[in-house]
Formats: sequence, structure tokens, C-alpha cells
Amino acid sequence: MMDDIRLSSHFTLAEFCNRRRYPANVPTVQQMVNMTYGCLMLLEPARQAIGCPLIINSGFRCEAVNRQVGGVRSSQHLQGCAADIRPQDPAQFQRLIAFLKAHDLTDQLLTGPGWLHISWAPFAPPRNYVRIGYYK
Ligand SMILES: [Zn+2]
Repeated sequence: MMDDIRLSSHFTLAEFCNRRRYPANVPTVQQMVNMTYGCLMLLEPARQAIGCPLIINSGFRCEAVNRQVGGVRSSQHLQGCAADIRPQDPAQFQRLIAFLKAHDLTDQLLTGPGWLHISWAPFAPPRNYVRIGYYK
């Protein structure tokens, strides 16, 4: 079953796609590769750095899901290159921000109240674009 696919030690495809809520949210193989890159290069190191699990609120979005949630048309969520996350322990939020801000492979880091948007760029130089308090 596709949803059982493990992208890395602590992250599954099911967490990225939320197909219980969005049954048609199915990625291509390339998009799955992109998600795996994000898990291995950013999410796993971040999880390890703060010492607590990360909850994915929104990961991969097909066009229809992206429209439904009001995502921008060029959203990196469409390519499996972004995730909206929060630490399971809210007390670790600032440490999570600090880690991702300092990380060489961070493409975009946009923070909101208690959660953040992180993106990665497997095929381009990461922009390291950081906006704290981007989402109100
Ligand atoms: Zn996002």
C-alpha cells in the first residue's frame, strides 16, 4: 500500500499526503524523491537537533489540494519540496527555527504562530530566504 512507504527513519508518505482527508493527493515518483530529499537532508537532522518528533500539518499537495487549501500557484508543496511543521513539544519551537535558519540546505523558512513552512531545493542552490513572523 502506497501510504505505508517510509521516506526516512521517522517520516512516512502518509504524513506528507494526508490521503485520509485528500484521497486523490497522489505524488509522482519524482515528487516522492523530492520529499525523501527533504526528510533526509532537513527534517531528520532538525528532529535530531531538537530531540523531539515533528508533526507535519501539510506536506505534498496536488493541484486540487493546493487550490483547496488556498496555496499560492507556484507553491513548493506542489513538487514535494516543502512542509508545514511544528514540534510535538511546543517548547522546542525556537530551537527548531534556529536550526533551520542556520541550515545550509534551507530554501525558504517562513514562520507562523507555533508552526513554520520549510522548503528545500534538490536541483537548485538553496536561497536561504528566512522570514520570521511571516504568517500572522
Ligand atoms: Zn507551506
